[in-house]
Amino acid sequence: MIEVKNLVKRYGDHTAVDHLSFQIEKGKIYGFLGPNGAGKSTTMNIITGYIASTEGTVSIDGHDILEEPEKAKKCIGYLPEQPPLYFDMTVLEYLKFAADLKKIPKDKKNEMIQEVMDTVKITDMKNRLIKNLSKGYRQRVGLAQAILGYPDVIILDEPTVGLDPKQIIEIRDLIKNLKKKHTVILSSHILSEVSAVCDYVLIISHGKLVASDTPDNLSKLAAGSNNLSLIVKGEKESIRRLLSEIPGVKTITVNSAENENGWRVKLSTEESADIREEVFYKMAENHYPILEMQSEKVSLEEIFLELTDGGNDKKDDSSQKSKTENHEEEGGEQ
Ligand code: ADP
Ligand code: MG
Repeated sequence: MIEVKNLVKRYGDHTAVDHLSFQIEKGKIYGFLGPNGAGKSTTMNIITGYIASTEGTVSIDGHDILEEPEKAKKCIGYLPEQPPLYFDMTVLEYLKFAADLKKIPKDKKNEMIQEVMDTVKITDMKNRLIKNLSKGYRQRVGLAQAILGYPDVIILDEPTVGLDPKQIIEIRDLIKNLKKKHTVILSSHILSEVSAVCDYVLIISHGKLVASDTPDNLSKLAAGSNNLSLIVKGEKESIRRLLSEIPGVKTITVNSAENENGWRVKLSTEESADIREEVFYKMAENHYPILEMQSEKVSLEEIFLELTDGGNDKKDDSSQKSKTENHEEEGGEQ
C-alpha cells in the first residue's frame, strides 16, 4: 500500500530523517513510536506530500508522491499535529469546505458529511463554531476531515495529545473502528498507546528505524532477557565470582544496598534461564545469606527506552537530566 525507500530529510546539517525504509500493508493499524524530535512528524509530512524529502522515495498504491502527487494524495487522509481548522467556521461549514477541497462530488457531499459526523460522533455539534469546541471535539473534527472521502490510508499525527483520559479512550476506540475500512498510521511518543491500538509498531529514534514488529513480538523480545535482583551478605568480589559461574548469567552488577548491610546484586540472564535455585544453593554453600530475591521482567517500556536512548532525542540539558534520573532508578552503574 505504501512503500517508503531510503527517506532522508536534512535541515541544514541536522538530519531529521535518516534513511528510513518500510512498507505499510492494507487493513492494519501502524504506530510510529518515538520520543519528541525523533522525526515522526517530518516522516508523516513527507508521506502525505506536505514537504519534500532530501533523498528517497514514497509511493502510495503505486503512485510516487512527487511524480503523481494528485493520485497519491487522493489515497490519503491526514490529521497533522496542528489540525488545519478554521475557528470561525461551524463544524458543518468546515466539513463542507474540506469536502470541496477534496473534490467530493456534489451529489454525495451532504450524505458523506453526515456519515462522517456520525462516525466521529460530532453530529450534535454541527452548528457550533469550532472556536467554541473543547480540544477533544476539535480533534474529532480534524479526524472527520481526514476520513472525508474515505481515503484508503488515514494518517494521524499524535491524535491524542492534549486530551483528557476519557477523550483518549474515545479517540482510541474511534481509531480502532477505522481499521474496518482503512489502513491507519498514527504516531505517538507513548508506548502504551501504540501497543494498545496498533497491529504493528515502528520505533523511530534520531530519524532512524530502530525496531519494527508486532506489539506481541516486541514484548517477547523484552521477555527474552530477565533480570534477577538480590540482596546478599558476604564478600563483594567473591559473590560476583560465584554468580558468574552460573550458566545463563549475562551481566552482573554489585552495589552496596541502601538501608541494608549487604550488596544489591542485579543479574541479567539469558532467555528462559531460571537460575533462582542455583543462586540459592551457590550462596548457601558459601554461607552468604540472601536477604531478598526478586525476578524482574524487562518491560516493553525498558526496551523502548533502551532503543531510543532513554526516550530522549533532544541533545539539550533536559535530556541529560532525564538520563541521570533513569540511571538512578536502575540503582547504579553497569
Ligand atoms: P517528532 O514529530 O518525532 O517529534 P519532528 O519530525 O517534528 O519530530 O522533528 C524531527 C527533528 O527535525 C527535530 O530535531 C526537529 O527540531 C527538526 N525539525 C523539524 N522541522 C524542522 C524545520 N522546519 N526546520 C528545522 N528543523 C526542523
Ligand atoms: Mg511530531
